Amino acid sequence: MQVIQHVAEMQAVAELLRARGKRIGVVPTMGYLHEGHLSLVRLARSHCDTVIATLFVNPTQFGPTEDFERYPRDLDRDLKLAAEAGADTLFCPDTKEMYPDGSATFVDVEGVSAVLEGKFRPTHFRGVTTVVAKILNTTKPHLAVFGQKDAQQAFLVTKMARELNFDVQILVGPTVREQDGLALSSRNVYLSADERLRATALFRALKHAEMLIARGERSAAHIRSQMLALLADAAPAKIDYVAFVRPASFQETELLEPPSVLIALAVWFGSTRLIDNMTIPIS
Ligand code: AMP
Repeated sequence: MQVIQHVAEMQAVAELLRARGKRIGVVPTMGYLHEGHLSLVRLARSHCDTVIATLFVNPTQFGPTEDFERYPRDLDRDLKLAAEAGADTLFCPDTKEMYPDGSATFVDVEGVSAVLEGKFRPTHFRGVTTVVAKILNTTKPHLAVFGQKDAQQAFLVTKMARELNFDVQILVGPTVREQDGLALSSRNVYLSADERLRATALFRALKHAEMLIARGERSAAHIRSQMLALLADAAPAKIDYVAFVRPASFQETELLEPPSVLIALAVWFGSTRLIDNMTIPIS
């Protein structure tokens, strides 16, 4: 696997790959790779001739009181895992390379970036869409793969790519979970053993909602109150939101209508904030 740290070199390599007729897939990550990331590398691999994984802990998507400094990092381990999963290139720039001194250009998708996650992390999505735009312009992919685990991010990146005429296809891969349902996340390492056990409540709450919907329940308020009770049993430090949105628009809805609803939640266990979501068909 080729490791590249500089934008100009990455662009030159991508240009060469394109000239050779190779279909390029990119998987942007913040590293500390787990099976969720690796599933996206494999998905990209199955659609493309060559896969670039990117690894960059992007400071602009962290709020001033968030975990940028302590975000887990292990480059040696990531190099090994990315190569094993089938990445041909790892692009791992440093902060100065991605944000040269004096950088003042940002990409902001208005509206949806301010709801749900955006309400609790006001500058988060501006950082995400900005860095993804930079990564797309650097790796020149035909396909970019994101995870459904971060559903709002996938929605916003897709919207940005469409509205800014990025010549790239966006593909969203399913959420990879532990056996007990906890969605894999680099941040799971922050959880104590006890918090880790209690954190399964996110998945249980989503599965409970799925069961209620299968039984015919169509009121978001009713479903939310049962989900909140179930989550409260797990003694979380705080529940930021349990939201019901229409997947096509990411607009919140109180009445569940066909074809599907996306239920998204953000819950704190100790000082760790976890998010999860599930798309549930409505007949
Ligand atoms: P991150 O390193 O957390 O920024 O994530 C990089 C990419 O991996 C994003 O597109 C995430 O949505 C995706 N991802 C993170 N966790 C999972 C998971 N459990 N299953 C599938 N994709 C994931």
